Amino acid sequence: MSKILNSPDEVLSTLNKDGSRKWVYPTLVKGVWWKRRMIVAYALIAVFIAMPLININGHPAILFDIFTWKFSLFGWVFSPTDTEILMVFGLTILVAVVFVTALFGRVWCGWGCPQTVYLEFIYRPIEALFEGKAAKRRRTDSKKLKGADLAKKILKWCVYFLVSFGLAHVFVAYIAGWERLGSFMTQSPADHPSLFGLVSGMTALILFDFGYFREQMCTIACPYARLQSVLIDNDSMIVSYDPFRGEPRGKKKKGDDLDLGDCVACNACVRTCPTGIDIRDGLQMECIGCLQCVDACDEIMIKVDRPVGLIRYTSQPALEKKKTNIFRPRVILYGILFVVLLSIFGILIGGTKAISVKVFRTGGAPFVMVQDDVLNTYKVRIENRTGDLQKVEFHKEADSKVNLFVAGGGKIEIESGRFKKVVLRLSLPKTEFKNGKADIVLHLKHKGQEDVLVNLHMIGPK
Ligand code: SF4
Ligand code: SF4
Repeated sequence: MSKILNSPDEVLSTLNKDGSRKWVYPTLVKGVWWKRRMIVAYALIAVFIAMPLININGHPAILFDIFTWKFSLFGWVFSPTDTEILMVFGLTILVAVVFVTALFGRVWCGWGCPQTVYLEFIYRPIEALFEGKAAKRRRTDSKKLKGADLAKKILKWCVYFLVSFGLAHVFVAYIAGWERLGSFMTQSPADHPSLFGLVSGMTALILFDFGYFREQMCTIACPYARLQSVLIDNDSMIVSYDPFRGEPRGKKKKGDDLDLGDCVACNACVRTCPTGIDIRDGLQMECIGCLQCVDACDEIMIKVDRPVGLIRYTSQPALEKKKTNIFRPRVILYGILFVVLLSIFGILIGGTKAISVKVFRTGGAPFVMVQDDVLNTYKVRIENRTGDLQKVEFHKEADSKVNLFVAGGGKIEIESGRFKKVVLRLSLPKTEFKNGKADIVLHLKHKGQEDVLVNLHMIGPK
C-alpha cells in the first residue's frame, strides 16, 4: 500500500533526503470535487459547533461530561455504568467505519475527518489570505523573513491563535458543557484551573496541529491510515490514476510523432496533493482520498482537449474494464454486523427508562428476624435520566403486608442526569413466606410519569 522506496536516495514525499521536513505547498484547484467537499466541510463545521448548544429533552445534543460523568446523546442520558450501551455504541461506530472503508476507501479522511476539514477549509484559506497562493508562499519561505512578509506571517499566526482558541472552546464544550464553560469564562482562570488548563492545552494542540504538523498527522501519526491496507480490498473504491490511458506519459512537441498517452506530465496532480504524493505511482498509504488530484488533472485534460477522468474515483477492476464486485463476503459480513449492532443499540436505548432502578442485596445475613417479622435490607440505585430534578418515593401495593423504610426519609430528590443510592429495608410477617421466599412489588412514584415497578424477592426462614 505504501509507496515502495527502491533506493536509499528515495525518501517519503514529505521528507528531504537529509531526513528533515519537506514543507508541502499544495496548489488550490477549485474543481467540482473541491466545491462538493467545501459544502460538506462547512456543514460539518456548523454541526460541530451546534451540537453542544442544541438542547434536546433538557440536555445538550451531545455531551460527554468528564467532570460529572454524565453523557447525553440526542436526548438520551447515560452514565458510565451503562457499559453495555456505551460498548455497543462504540462497536457500532467502529464497524460502520470498517464497512464504509471496505466499500468507499478513505472517504472519511477526505470528506469527514476534522484534520482535513479544518486544515483545508479554515486554516489554509486563512494562510492564502495573508500569504498568497502556494507558489508565492514557497518563494517567501525560501528567503529570510523580514518586513511585510514577516508582518503577514505574524498576523496569520495571530488569527490562527484566535480560531484555535474558539475551536478549543467548542471541543471543551463537548466534555464540560456550554453552561459550565460559559459561567467559568466570566470568572478568573484561578477559580477554575483545571478547565482553564484544558482549554489552553487544547488551543496549543490545535494550533500546533493545523499550523505546523498538518499532513504529518495523516502520514505518520493516524492509526486509521495504517489500518487502511487491511480494511480495503481490490474492489474498494479508491482515487486512482488510469495508466492504461495515461502511459506512456510525456509532453508532445509540435512535429513529434510519439505515440504518447493522455498524461502530459504536467505534475499538476502532484503539486495539488496535500500529502505531497504522486498518485501515478499507485495507491499509497499517504493518500487521504481528498480528490484534489482529480480536480487538478480534469482541469488539465480540459485545457489539452482530452476526456476528463484520467485520475478518477474508481475501483481497480473498473480501471481494467472489469466488473466491480460490490457484494463481496467482507462487505456483506460488515454490513450484517453493522445492522445487528445498530438494532441492539436501538433496543437498548428503547429499553432505557426516564427513571431507572437497580437493586442490590447488602452483604452479611440475607435476613434478620425481628419478633415475627422478617427483615431484608437492599441497596437501591435510582437514576434520573430526565432533564429535570425529580422527587421520587417508594410505595407498597394496597393489599401488601410489607412495611418499607427508606433510610433518610421517604422522598428522594435526584438532579437531572444524576443517580442516588439509598438503603431500603423491607419487613414482612414470616407467615407470608413460602419455602423461604416472598415476592414483593414496589411502586416508585414520580410526578407526571407512570410508576416504575420494582420487583423484589425477599428471603426468609424455610
Ligand atoms: S493523491 Fe490525490 S486523493 Fe490522494 S491525497 Fe493526494 S491529492 Fe488527495
Ligand atoms: S495532472 Fe494529469 S496530466 Fe498532469 S501529470 Fe497528473 S495525471 Fe498527468
